[in-house]
Amino acid sequence: MDKCSFCGREKKETNLLIAGLSGHICDRCIEQAHEIILEELRKKGDFDVTQLQLLKPIEIKNFLDLYVIGQEEAKRYLSVAVYNHYKRLMQTNHKDEEEVEIEKSNIILVGETGTGKTLLARTIAKMLHVPFTIVDATVLTEAGYVGEDIESILTRLLQVADYNVEAAEKGIVFIDEIDKIARKGDNPSITRDVSGEGVQQGLLKLLEGSVVNVPPQGGRKHPDQKMIAVNTKNILFICGGAFDGIERKIGQRLNTQVVGYSASRDKDKIDRQNLLQYIAPQDLKSFGLIPEIIGRLPVLTYLNPLDREALRRILTDPKNAIIKQYEKLFKMDGVKLSFEKEVLEYIVDKAIEFKLGARGLRSICEAIMIDVMFDIPSSDEKNVKITLEYAKEKLAKVNVQRLKAA
Ligand code: ADP
Repeated sequence: MDKCSFCGREKKETNLLIAGLSGHICDRCIEQAHEIILEELRKKGDFDVTQLQLLKPIEIKNFLDLYVIGQEEAKRYLSVAVYNHYKRLMQTNHKDEEEVEIEKSNIILVGETGTGKTLLARTIAKMLHVPFTIVDATVLTEAGYVGEDIESILTRLLQVADYNVEAAEKGIVFIDEIDKIARKGDNPSITRDVSGEGVQQGLLKLLEGSVVNVPPQGGRKHPDQKMIAVNTKNILFICGGAFDGIERKIGQRLNTQVVGYSASRDKDKIDRQNLLQYIAPQDLKSFGLIPEIIGRLPVLTYLNPLDREALRRILTDPKNAIIKQYEKLFKMDGVKLSFEKEVLEYIVDKAIEFKLGARGLRSICEAIMIDVMFDIPSSDEKNVKITLEYAKEKLAKVNVQRLKAA
């Protein structure tokens, strides 16, 4: 009796049974296999780095402009660093003995929380279609201590790349809160600094590029777990941190540097309101990053605090701005949603008043919109206009602490 060698169905149970040299396959198994092939191809295609188009820095910046408001300097630095990084990658593809080896341009972004550091990194990854992951440096500890091993950073990258090692090796990792692993105090040897210098040492080898054994399921290394070797040479690391208080270090440095007549004139030009713009590698060192780490993060740039104008623009201007998202949600129900201009100003005012920053814009909008979003889909209303009065009334009911927690 002929049977499908894959699922075991007999010929009469199939629509078609095709014979091979030493077996048979039925129509259903062919279809299933076809699905698998398509799926695999799609996965590969998702992260097909050979298809990477090398966008010029200006083009990269234009793309960032679609999603991120302001932060001109950071965008320029990022655009150039990313351009050079992927140019370097192309070079590795067709290696030439004579060629000068281009060093890796890992990036460090310094700026208050909620000013767009993660958003910038995420947007770059979106543009490039490369695997991207965000890890929080605070969960990392030195091997042998409670917390996650450094290698777990790469586990997440592998996971988003569907364990396609080649794709992961060309991905981007955003390490958030890098400032939290700074060495505390000047004498690290008195007590064991589990989350500080040891982690920095561990990170070094990832940043500089080496083959790392990664536990595929993450967590702590386990003797029975089969490791996956990942080469970090072409992974772009973008680190971000608020570095609270670093302005003081910058200020001190600027003060001590300026001596003499011409220098004192320079001093007058220093914009004391925004000292971050003068950030230099030695400030990171004073803050407690070890020099080797700083050396592996050659591109250093800063983000500005978001002012009123920037917050207002974030509400409506980015390609996926919050307000545009609400409009789209309503449109899907056939409803035209609009906002009085004053409502937008009011939302910004509240974000500033409650010191919520850009993240707060969304929680404030949610608080205002929750009731209409609940009611409208079941009503006949085709036009909804959010008035200032309505917005005030809804927000008055909300506990500010909840907004902050959001
Ligand atoms: P950070 O990483 O600096 O703490 P995020 O990038 O996570 O901050 O920003 C939090 C949210 O605030 C983002 O998801 C985005 O909605 C908004 N946001 C922050 N900064 C900007 C910006 N410059 N342009 C547009 N949106 C921004």
